[in-house]
Formats: sequence, structure tokens, C-alpha cells
Amino acid sequence: MKKLISALASIALGASLMAAPAFSADKGMVGISMPTKSSTRWISDGESMVKSFKDLGYTADLQFAEDDIPNQLAQIENMVTKGAKVLVIGAIDGTTLSDILAKANQAGVKVFAYDRLIRDSGNVDYYATFDNFKVGVLQAESLVKGLKERFPNVKPWNVELFGGSPDDNNAFFFYDGAMSVLKPMIDKGEIAVVSGQMGMDKVGTLRWDGAVAQARMDNLLSANYTSKKVNGVLSPYDGLSRGIISSLKGVGYDPAGKEFPIVTGQDAELASVKGMIAGEQYSTIFKDTRDLAATTAKMVDAVMQGKTPETNDTKTYNNGVKVVPSMLLAPHVVYKDDIEKVLVGSGYYTKDQIAK
Ligand code: BGC
Repeated sequence: MKKLISALASIALGASLMAAPAFSADKGMVGISMPTKSSTRWISDGESMVKSFKDLGYTADLQFAEDDIPNQLAQIENMVTKGAKVLVIGAIDGTTLSDILAKANQAGVKVFAYDRLIRDSGNVDYYATFDNFKVGVLQAESLVKGLKERFPNVKPWNVELFGGSPDDNNAFFFYDGAMSVLKPMIDKGEIAVVSGQMGMDKVGTLRWDGAVAQARMDNLLSANYTSKKVNGVLSPYDGLSRGIISSLKGVGYDPAGKEFPIVTGQDAELASVKGMIAGEQYSTIFKDTRDLAATTAKMVDAVMQGKTPETNDTKTYNNGVKVVPSMLLAPHVVYKDDIEKVLVGSGYYTKDQIAK
């Protein structure tokens, strides 16, 4: 009898092993809507997610909206029509998605806000991002560190502020985080914002556009710095930093000299990493998009299995309708000397990419 049972058990086991395919079964389609290809981070976010979802047994429909809101809406609508079970959305404008998300909700689609919060909608299930306030803190701390190093005898330090796109919730978190460090120093007279332009309504940069930042920097320099020198620029994103740096070089600041202004950044974009090696940009913030992608895929998979995904913040991200349970990953500041260890060491870039 025992033998028979064990024989039956092994047949059953064999059958179940055979039934388990070499790769996981298709668990359904995930629609991934990224804002733009114009910044390399979103390309790597998208590609990493496709890989992570495939590994977990999903098919992925990855679309980039090229910073065009109607385009993003149409792409998302199309994903819902094609039967996506889940939407992972990096919004262009976090306030424009309410209608399409209501439709998605009616079709039973789960919605994940990716990196940027989706605002004004109750139909956002989870949010996966980095600690955005901390990003701003790190940017400002690196700015101050650079000012101390490069301009030890200057008082006050002349600084100009740049913010991200006012339709991106993150931009406010970056700015507020940075100002938590800079405002007390401005109040004490250690830092002077010579233009007087402060607050996201004055310093925001629509659609994170580097050309817009460059034009604003040109204006700031010609209006305020004919007899003064600017010592530092708070820039929230590498693409803006490169525009700001072009403007600075255009009026004669020399990256090879000792008084090139301290310029911060974010995303560790390859062009800016090279700019750091060339002494143009002082710091960047590295957010490992591979981790964010893998974390998001894990959260999605948990929800699809009827489980509650891991989150670590259920207070911060009120989108105007609800507080969206969030998973925040850690951002890291990177200086020239860390490039090799942090960016090459983690395999984010190869030595060759950085050298060329
Ligand atoms: C992201 C940043 C990025 C910026 C511009 C923000 O929402 O969090 O990493 O620099 O958008 O693309």
C-alpha cells in the first residue's frame, strides 16, 4: 500500500513538474507608460521594467509619450482597450489622468504611479518612487559642500535656484527638500539669491526643458551678474544643469578655472557624468532605475496575486483625493570621485561608456 501511495505521489509530482512550464505562464499584460525618451533615465526605467515583468511571467506594452499629454492619454487608453490588467504610469502632467483612470478602474485595471505621483484621482492603487524630499536635501547639501570647498573666502555665496516642472509633483518635493537646507542659510545671510527669485512659481522649469533653463540662466546673468559673480546654482535635474552650464560658459565662466560655479543635478545622465569628469557639474543624484523597476514589478505581482505589496510610507503622498501607499527607495549623491565606484561598480555604466 505504502509503495502504491508513494508511486502515485511520484506520478503526481512528475505531472505537476511537467505542468510547470520552463518559464512562468503568461500572467497578463502590463501597460507601461513612460513620459519621454528625451531623458535617458526613462528609457532605462522602461527597459528594466519590461525585463522585470517578463521575468515574473507578464507581457509588457511599453510606450513613451514624448512629453505630449494627449499622446500619453491615447497610449494609456489603448492599453486599457487591449486588455492590460495593470498600468504603470510615469505621468507627464500628474493632474491630467483622472478620466482615463476612471475608465481603467471600471475595467478592473490596477494603477501604479511610477516615480511621479498621479494627482487628483482616487484610482491610483500604489506609488513606487525614490525619497523625493531627500533628493532635494542631498542636492542642497552638495551645493553647500561645493561652495565651502571652492569659495572658502566668499561671503555671502551668490546662488541662483532652479526648480523642476510645476506639473510634476516631484518638483515640489525636490524644491522643498533643498530649501529645508538653504532657507536657514539665506535667512542668516550666508547665501544670497541675488535675483531674489525664489519659490516654485518663480523658479520652475516647464517640462524639465534644458533650453528653458538655459534661457532663464542667460537672463539671470545679464540682469544680476554684470558686476557680481555667481558661485552656485541649485539645479534639480542633469538636463537643466547642462543648459545652465552652457549659459555660464557662454558668458565666460571657465570650467578649467578655480571659480566655476557649483552646479548640482539629478539622474546621473551619461552626458552629465562626463561633465562632472570635465569639472563642469559638481554633483548629481543617482537613483538606480533598475531597482525602481524591479520593486515596481514585485509590487504589481503581489497585487495580482491578491496580496498586499510591501510599502514603507503611508503618510506622505496625498494626491488630493487619497494618500497613496508608497514605496520609497534611497537616492544617492555622486561626486566626481564616486563615479567609478558607484556608477561603474554597480554596473549602471561601463568604464568604456564613461571614458568615451
Ligand atoms: C524625476 C527625476 C527627473 C525629472 C526629469 C522627475 O519626476 O523624478 O528623476 O530628473 O523628472 O525627467
